[in-house]
Amino acid sequence: MDQFKAIVIDRDEDKKQSVEIKTLTQADLMEGDVTVKVAYSTVNFKDGLAITGKSPVVRRWPMVPGIDMAGTVLSSDNPDFKPGDEVVLNGWGVGETHMGAYSQVARVKGDWLIHKPEGLTPAQCMGIGTAGYTSMLCVLALEEAGVTPDKGPVLVTGAAGGVGSVAIAILSKLGYHVIASTGRQEEGDYLKALGAAELIDREELSGPARPLNKERWAGVVDAVGSHTLANALSMTQYGGAVAACGLAQGMDLPSSVAPFILRGVKLLGIDSVMAPKERRMEAWSRLAKDLDIGKLESLTKTVGFDQAMDAAKDIVDGKIRGRVIVDING
Ligand code: NDP
Repeated sequence: MDQFKAIVIDRDEDKKQSVEIKTLTQADLMEGDVTVKVAYSTVNFKDGLAITGKSPVVRRWPMVPGIDMAGTVLSSDNPDFKPGDEVVLNGWGVGETHMGAYSQVARVKGDWLIHKPEGLTPAQCMGIGTAGYTSMLCVLALEEAGVTPDKGPVLVTGAAGGVGSVAIAILSKLGYHVIASTGRQEEGDYLKALGAAELIDREELSGPARPLNKERWAGVVDAVGSHTLANALSMTQYGGAVAACGLAQGMDLPSSVAPFILRGVKLLGIDSVMAPKERRMEAWSRLAKDLDIGKLESLTKTVGFDQAMDAAKDIVDGKIRGRVIVDING
């Protein structure tokens, strides 16, 4: 493919950002030992921040955004990959410092790729994407911290978003009693269909937290941060654990040490971007096993390449439910 379409973010000398669809050639791409024909990508919160310029996600210009890709190897100098291999990439700075997935062709480091997990199609992998793979990293961390379904309920914050929706589907299949915190009560039926046993209004958690509050859950998947995370910690039962992966409400954590020193609560930090390859492969193999494909389909919608920019704006405005797949050639 000599010429191909890509979304390109650029800056003028006054640092004013522009985003447009451009025709690129392979000479425009950055260094890497594997060239991939991208089939699908997805819209994550971070992609929204990059495209809208609302946070300093992009650190090199021009940049092709898109932190997730699924596609087929076109050429490879990496011994682990050969032409025709189906591959998946999540994170590693792709779409931030290295040209990313909103492009019909991408050149990346083979070390960043994994072979597409058995049992999932490329589109399903992007239905999961970084948001869903991060949900599984949260679930793995909670399990390792000893949170099992018999210990008590698990709270999922930002429930109708990407991380939240996938987390609910996984946790309910694993037998947990899931409490979903959402600001969108109109999505109640959707969240229950994914497996939420109870819904709470996110307003209950979004104000300043007391150091300790009534114990309500054994574990938490938190995609929201700020006061919500502080409240989630203050209501975690003795010996429980909280997996913190997001900042939809804010990056601050206005909390106290009380949950840690009086209840032995564990705060587990979750990073998907630089997670080692073995951990990724563990998460993806668990996703192939523990995520109900029917539920995955119900929480995803697919948009064409030309609609990716609008979807990126919508996710920052909190208007996206579940996950959005981008058909790069559609
Ligand atoms: P989404 O935008 O899809 O979901 C975020 C959800 O958070 C919204 O749907 C909404 O849920 C809730 N929310 C939004 N704004 C607020 C607010 N002001 N106060 C309380 N709740 C709010 O994003 P993702 O699910 O893709 O990502 C969630 C977070 O996780 C983001 O901050 C993202 O950057 C982070 N993330 C981190 C990763 C990591 O490696 N640590 C990887 C992937 C994502 P509802 O409408 O149900 O209330």
